[in-house]
Formats: sequence, structure tokens, C-alpha cells
Amino acid sequence: MDRINDNSKLLFYLLILFTVLFSTTVHSESSSKPTISILIDDIGYKFKEDTRALALPGPVAYAILPHGPHTEVMSKIAFKKGKDILLHLPMQAEVMDKNEFLGPGALTLNMTREEFFKTLNINIRAVPNLIGINNHMGSLLTQHPGHMQWLMDSIKNNGQFYVDSLTSDNSVAARLARENNVPYLTRDVFLDHKQGSKNVRTQFKELIKVAKRNGSALGIGHPHASTIQVLSELLQNVDQHGVKLVSIKTLLHKSASGKKYAQRTGTTSAGM
Ligand SMILES: [Zn+2]
Repeated sequence: MDRINDNSKLLFYLLILFTVLFSTTVHSESSSKPTISILIDDIGYKFKEDTRALALPGPVAYAILPHGPHTEVMSKIAFKKGKDILLHLPMQAEVMDKNEFLGPGALTLNMTREEFFKTLNINIRAVPNLIGINNHMGSLLTQHPGHMQWLMDSIKNNGQFYVDSLTSDNSVAARLARENNVPYLTRDVFLDHKQGSKNVRTQFKELIKVAKRNGSALGIGHPHASTIQVLSELLQNVDQHGVKLVSIKTLLHKSASGKKYAQRTGTTSAGM
């Protein structure tokens, strides 16, 4: 009887040892693989293109403009599919004639604090189930610490995070997010600054290069036909490029500000 017990004990300990060794190996492999994350901006205005974008495989995130004709329906589809949803917040651009593309709900420099918050809150309510905010345009507004502080106040109060689309090299968004302990990410690569399959493929390669150099990289694309067509092909077998596609939440939790945020609020990657 005792021998049987001893044998089964030995077997039990061996099993534990193997489990620990195996899980450590798997864990270190998956955590050392460079990660990429994809965010598709400008959702809410083109039904056909948006629907195609929302059908992309994997944990792709979507930034939805607040007052488009399809904002509500696309928010619902994204939520149903379990996608991460961001408010794509229109902000004033540096070049005046670009501002005609801002659309309704834009935050501008001439706004008072009251006007700013009123507009921002209407925008937030227009995109249900959002977990973060990123700027649509905003090359002028993201340079201004006063207005960006107001934005960080709101993001902090609502427990959201910020993604700097980085439309200006002089953006102070990351600095202000850090100072306010707001979790944030910064865009690494625009996938389709120039449209067309060839350009998107080149930019996707660039995204992988940055991820391999820095450990992770965030790419932003738009619901253009060529972008969606190339992504739907490349994201099917993203592993063959030696990187892993992760959600924007996962990328955030890997970042320094995300780790700090998770510690402070006691949230885990599953909880945010
Ligand atoms: Zn945009």
C-alpha cells in the first residue's frame, strides 16, 4: 500500500515539474515574440467600407467618428464582434483648409473650457462601449498643453486610455498623459498614408520592422478598399512574419503607462 502511495506521489511531483517547465517555456516564447496591433480609424461614414473593415480577422480595434451616418450601427457591430472600440475624436488641424474634413463634434482652440467639455461629452455619448480615445486630425490641438490637459482630465475621470495618432511631431499628448498617469499609446506607423496595395504592403513591412526593433508596434489604417484587402490577406497568417497580432488593450498593458495603470487600479488585462 505504502509503495503504491510513494509511486503515485512521485508521479504527482513529476507531473507538477513537467507542467511548470512546460508552461514557463510556452510563456517565455509567447511573451518574447514581438507584437503588433492594428487600429482602423475614420469609421462611421461609409457603410460598405466600414462593414468590410469590421470583418477583418483577429483582435483589430476600431476608432469611430462621433456623428457619422453609420456611427451607431458600426458601434453595435463592433461591440457584437467583441472588438475594442475607440472614440475617434475630431480635433483642429494646423492647416486651415484641412479642417473641412473634421466633421461635426470637433474640438477647437477657440473653445472655452465649458464648450470643450460639452462637445467632448456629447461625442463620448455618441459612441457606446468605447474604451479609449484617439485624435482624428488634431495637428494643431495636440500641440496645446491647456486643451490637452482638459482632455486628459476627462479620460482619467472616465477610466479610458489615449492613443496619440501623432499627426504632429510637436504633439504634447504623450507628455501630458504621462504627467496625468493616463495610460497611452503612440502610433508607430500609418499603414495607408498613401493609398494602394503596394504602399500598404510596404507600410505593413515597416510595422513588423518596428515591432522587431522595439518589441511592439501600433499601426493605424483607414477603411480604404486597398487597405482592407491587403490587411485581410496579411492578418490571416501574421505569425509567419515572426510577430503576434494582439489587441490594443494587450499592447497597452505591455506599455509602461498601462502597467502602472493596471497596478494603480488593480485591473488585469482581462479587466480593462
Ligand atoms: Zn481620422
